[in-house]
Amino acid sequence: MMHIFGPVPSRRLGLSLGVDLIPYKTCTFDCLYCEVGKTTNRTITGGVFAPVDDILKQLDERLSECFPDVITLAGSGEPTLHCEIDRIIRGIRKRTDTEIVILTNGSLLWDESVRKRVLGADLIMPTLSSAVPRTFQTIHRPHAGLNLDRIVEGLEQLRREFEGLIYLEIILLAGINDSEEEITRLKPLIEKIQPEKIQLNTVVRPPADPRAKALDSRRLEEIKIFLGERAEIVVDVEAVKNSMERHKKQEALLETARRRPLRVKDIASSLGLSIEEVEGMVKGLLIKGYLRRQDHSGEIFYMGSDADPV
Ligand code: SF4
Repeated sequence: MMHIFGPVPSRRLGLSLGVDLIPYKTCTFDCLYCEVGKTTNRTITGGVFAPVDDILKQLDERLSECFPDVITLAGSGEPTLHCEIDRIIRGIRKRTDTEIVILTNGSLLWDESVRKRVLGADLIMPTLSSAVPRTFQTIHRPHAGLNLDRIVEGLEQLRREFEGLIYLEIILLAGINDSEEEITRLKPLIEKIQPEKIQLNTVVRPPADPRAKALDSRRLEEIKIFLGERAEIVVDVEAVKNSMERHKKQEALLETARRRPLRVKDIASSLGLSIEEVEGMVKGLLIKGYLRRQDHSGEIFYMGSDADPV
């Protein structure tokens, strides 16, 4: 298994060398907006999901070829599930003075042993997207052993124990957690956690579930002002616009495919897209199971499927 990826330019972190600690797709959550894909192993049980020596050996090789700004522990799932993440952090420290960042959903930080393991990082970037238990469930579809109060307690406790920086990420989804009530209830929780930064994000790449829709830049800006000076918008606003356009076209495609079978060229001419763009879109929808494909008299047609969530 390849554990090291990049370095890739990151808007938030500079040139980031990624360390993937967790196999696809093992996570404590199954978020609507996940860009990695649907969670196939939803768990809160930690394990040595990848041998530490293998990870550090691959890191040695990569660090001899590149000079990243940060080393980011992340993965195809939740990195704090790796119960030797502390050894990995210490191993990185021995090799380089490059800053160590952990991208986490924060769901296991109520567990003292998990918290202790991450204290050696320089920057922890947990997620908190709602203070409303029902919305939290809708967005994250967590493992049954998790609940919002416990997760917030874990984040508060992390703040007390961790000497590095905390950048709290809020993923905002149109029509789900962008209302006045949602944001007003979130603010006091953020104040308890006292992150150095509050990073507002939304969906840009195709999400695991099409109900996760990007928030427009006007509303992002309003929320940023409401949350105060530590808040910043970290998403590329132009990319959000493109994603919203793509989303609308995808919905139009599904809407038509529910009524009649379509060929790629039909979709291209009705949506004003190139054949290549339609092929990419169709491929994504087939993988998610929202379209099915049928061969008819030597031509390929696409039509709606039972898995279509709309
Ligand atoms: S926590 Fe991250 S990896 Fe896990 S399902 Fe959510 S977005 Fe995907």
